[in-house]
Amino acid sequence: MAIMTSPASLPSPQTFQPVLDRIAAEIEKTPGRGRPADYIPALAACDPRRFGMAVAEPDGTVYGVGDWRQPFSTQSITKVFTLALDLAREGDALWEHVGREPSGNPFNSLVQLEYENGIPRNPFINAGALVVTDRLQTQTGDAAETLLAFLRTESGNDQLSINEDVAASEAKHGDRNAALGHFMAAYGNIDNPVPVLLDQYFRQCSIEASCADLALATGFLARHGIRADGSRLLDRSQAKHINAIMLTCGTYDAAGDFAYRVGLPGKSGVGGGIIAVVPGHCTLCVWSPGLDERGNSVAGLAALDRFTTLTGLSVF
Ligand code: GLN
Repeated sequence: MAIMTSPASLPSPQTFQPVLDRIAAEIEKTPGRGRPADYIPALAACDPRRFGMAVAEPDGTVYGVGDWRQPFSTQSITKVFTLALDLAREGDALWEHVGREPSGNPFNSLVQLEYENGIPRNPFINAGALVVTDRLQTQTGDAAETLLAFLRTESGNDQLSINEDVAASEAKHGDRNAALGHFMAAYGNIDNPVPVLLDQYFRQCSIEASCADLALATGFLARHGIRADGSRLLDRSQAKHINAIMLTCGTYDAAGDFAYRVGLPGKSGVGGGIIAVVPGHCTLCVWSPGLDERGNSVAGLAALDRFTTLTGLSVF
């Protein structure tokens, strides 16, 4: 097996499977895996030793290893898709309501909102994602169902669904998100009634999908805005914009370290999944439920770090 180490010699797709197999074998030997999210009780029971990884080519060919077909809670990974769906509908008007700068703060932080007048730093922290979901709700009348339909179509898996137990668990323990929603509403930055918005947001986060599903559903970002059926969702610049925000904000206060180690646009979720994009080349999704203290999958980060090191595929 020839594993590429130089960016000058990008791997052919046939080398993806041996790379994935090698990464899974390395991860298997790693002792520390972090801890599953326990602030959402329905997620706490996940086994941190689970691990899956998938790579999808722009034509829809997908490779995988380990638990790559096991559905898991997508959580904040969905923020990439709601952003894309809203940008496709309302374009740059969105940016009057949410910024594009890294926050340097935890994903559920409230501190910047007051002195920045209810405008969240970026669409990938919870405050920003709530704004995006609110706007998508106004555009569509059902943000979570619009998102679910999109994910089903792009992944080719019509079995994808919302785990209502997880959504209920989030709602029961969602005081921080409720506080964010009400606070932004006080600044006039939320259109819908906050309880409606929170219900949509919790249902969005509770969609379950596998690494294979998510690697495929992310394909439009590797295809510069083109959906799986060849139609255009975003123009080329908008796809570039989303990739850029993923790189700078996709892993919250760990985005600098993620860029340093992985060197790709990426987005994590507290279910333990991370998606990543090699623009023009492929998309990835890795899942392992044990998290570090910033809410990113420990084994997922390690696996993406190894992938870009072994293949030389990175944006740098
Ligand atoms: N549903 C989670 C929350 O709002 C999503 C957070 C995440 O995945 N980082 O707290």
